[in-house]
Amino acid sequence: MAEKRDYYEVLGVDKNADDAALKSAYRKLAKKYHPDVNPGDKDAEAKFKEATEAYGVLSDPDKRRQYDQFGHAAFENGGAGAGGFGGFDFSGSDFSDIFSDLFGGMFGGGASRRSANSPMRGANLRARVNITFEEAVFGCEKELDIAFKDECTTCHGTGAKPGTSPVTCTRCKGEGQIMYTQQSVFGMVRNVQTCPECGGTGKVIKDKCPDCRGTGYKSSRKKIQVSVPAGIDNGQSIRIRDKGEPGVNGGPRGDLLVEVNVGRHPIFQRQDMNIFSTAPLTYAQAALGGELRINTVDGDVMYTVKPGTQTDTQIRLRGKGVPSLRNKNVRGDHYVTLVVQVPTGLNEEAKEALRRFDEACGNRPADKSAKNTDAGDGKSEKKKKSFMDKLKGTFED
Ligand SMILES: [Zn+2]
Ligand SMILES: [Zn+2]
Repeated sequence: MAEKRDYYEVLGVDKNADDAALKSAYRKLAKKYHPDVNPGDKDAEAKFKEATEAYGVLSDPDKRRQYDQFGHAAFENGGAGAGGFGGFDFSGSDFSDIFSDLFGGMFGGGASRRSANSPMRGANLRARVNITFEEAVFGCEKELDIAFKDECTTCHGTGAKPGTSPVTCTRCKGEGQIMYTQQSVFGMVRNVQTCPECGGTGKVIKDKCPDCRGTGYKSSRKKIQVSVPAGIDNGQSIRIRDKGEPGVNGGPRGDLLVEVNVGRHPIFQRQDMNIFSTAPLTYAQAALGGELRINTVDGDVMYTVKPGTQTDTQIRLRGKGVPSLRNKNVRGDHYVTLVVQVPTGLNEEAKEALRRFDEACGNRPADKSAKNTDAGDGKSEKKKKSFMDKLKGTFED
C-alpha cells in the first residue's frame, strides 16, 4: 500500500483547525470527488475515500487525539483493516448532515443514532375518504370511522403484565439497534439497523399484559371529523395533527393522513383549478345567436351566443372554476366547448323548412330537378338514405 498522506494535508487544513474548518474542508472535497459526481473515475473515488477517512478521524475528538499522538499507526490494528478505509461509522451525524445537504439525503433517513429510550413520535396513520366533485370544489365536512390506538390503561403502554416489567433485550443489549458492516463503494461501511428481536424498543416482554396482549395499546373505533378544504383534488391528502399512532416513551402522536378520492362528475371534468364541459347548441342557435343555458358548479348561467358560432367553439366563464386551496376567493375558470347538433328525426315540416332554408342560402338551385331524378332512380335515394344514417350514427354517440 502506498504511503498514506497526512490527514491534515489531505483535507488541506492546519493542525489547529476547528470542527467548522474541518467540516468545510471536507465538504469541498466530498463535493468535488464524490463517486456520484465522477462516475467511473477511480482517481476521484480514491481521493474521496481518502478525504472521508481523514474527516472520519479528525472530526472525532478521541480519534483525533490518538492520531495526533501516534499518526496512522494509531489505527493500523483497529477495525480499519488492510484497505485503510473501513470501520468508519457513516451513521455519525456529521456525515449524514454533510451528505444530506450535498446530495439531498442520498444516505437516507434514520442514519442518526437514537437511544432506544428516547421519546419517539408515533407513526402516521393513513385513511381514505370519498367525496363528490362538488364537495371537492366547495369543501365539506366528513366523519371518518377509524381504528384509533390508545395507550393501554392496564400496563400504561409497557405491554408487560402488571407487577412485571419488560427486560432488557439481550440481542442489542437495550440499544434497540444493531450494527452490521457492509461492502460498498466506500469500502467497508458500518451500518445501523433496528434490532429485529425487540423491534427497536430495547426491551423484551416476558409476561404480556392480558388486556393488550403485550402491544401496550388498545384499539377502539373513533369518529374523527375531517374538514375537507375547498379546491382539494383527487389523490391529495389532508393532514390531521396528532391523530396517528401513539408515540413511544412519551413522544407525541403521529398524524392522520386522509387521502381524498374525488368521484367523477357526469358533465364536468377538472384540470387543476379549471373545469371543462361541453354544451349542445342547436343549428339555429349557432347560426342566429341567442341565449344559452349552461350548467356550472354555481348553478345554471345564461350565456349569449354570438350569431355564426362554429361548432367546437370554446368559451370561458371566468371565476366559475375550482377555488384555490390557499385562498378560496381565487377561482379558476370554466371552459365550455359549444357543440353544434345536427338535427335528426326531423318531421316533414322541419324538413321542408330546411330545404327552403338551403334554397334561400343558394345551396340547392336544382332541388326540384334533383327530386325528379331521384324519383326515377331508386338507387340514388337509397344511397342518400344510408349516408344520412351514417351521419345520424356519428352524431348520436
Ligand atoms: Zn396492556
Ligand atoms: Zn433488541
